[in-house]
Amino acid sequence: MVDKVKKIWLEGELVDWDEARVHVLTHSLHYGLGAFEGIRAYRRSDGRTAIFRLREHIDRLLDTCKLVFTMPRFTRAQIMDACSLVVRENGMDEAYLRPLVYVGDGAMGVYAPDNPIRTMIVAWRWGTYLGKDALEQGIRTKISSWSRHHLHVGLPRAKMMGQYTNSTLAKREARMAGYDEAILLDTSGQVCEGSGENIFIVKNGRLYTPPLSLSILAGVTRDTIITLAREEGIPVSEESIIRDQLYLADEAFFTGTAAEVTPIREVDNRAIGEGKIGPITKRLQQRYFDAVKGSDDAHPEWLTFLR
Ligand code: PMP
Repeated sequence: MVDKVKKIWLEGELVDWDEARVHVLTHSLHYGLGAFEGIRAYRRSDGRTAIFRLREHIDRLLDTCKLVFTMPRFTRAQIMDACSLVVRENGMDEAYLRPLVYVGDGAMGVYAPDNPIRTMIVAWRWGTYLGKDALEQGIRTKISSWSRHHLHVGLPRAKMMGQYTNSTLAKREARMAGYDEAILLDTSGQVCEGSGENIFIVKNGRLYTPPLSLSILAGVTRDTIITLAREEGIPVSEESIIRDQLYLADEAFFTGTAAEVTPIREVDNRAIGEGKIGPITKRLQQRYFDAVKGSDDAHPEWLTFLR
């Protein structure tokens, strides 16, 4: 259960949590067209709160809106300010932020181009996404029987609501089979990503992650980790990975705003490396936490401090 906070930003207004309701004929509820984001604000070691890579998340939100014809009536600057406002007005020092742009009620039927496009932003407290011990002990994963959308079927650059039925089916399948998370391949068998995370493996000291030409989301955390790895002198290759390489990796981990940097200790009942967090994963996880909430201010462009 999500713990209530006081206010939700809906269409330019702060409204009480219990009043932030939508009509049952909300078009997106029926057909899934719309865009969303997941963003975290952290309390840093100096006590100040900063939203991590807000600009990049809102850019991706607007890219999604362009791809699926749901441009909001608010500008990028207005949405960014509203994200800060919602954290501040709820008196939160840490938050998960969920901006969402959806097609409101009006006409029904798949084609409803004149329905209003509505925007909302909710903030809530969200701890470790994949469970209490996930960040330290790593998680058990399963290759999904579901494929990631073929490029003719979906829009990988879009964080579009409707595409998440694919993620939900994969996640449920994995959890019901006793695993923590799913890994999805594409229809030709290339490793793509988790249900809500990008994936990396380490082999012989080199980091590998699937390229953006495959059916994967262009993760903000993925980009952060590639940057930090290069700064650490760890070579990074964005290239296709097949299932065998995953099983034989020295280390593997997921990245995501919610999942942060989560080690993968097992894939399909095969231990990855020594079956626990590996040294390169540990180093990058530490660098990540230093960047998002520690004392690493080397990338001021990544931080939006609450005023
Ligand atoms: N892939 C999918 C399918 C996701 O839902 C997410 C979470 N947004 C990611 C990857 C990771 O993206 P990010 O690092 O921007 O949160």
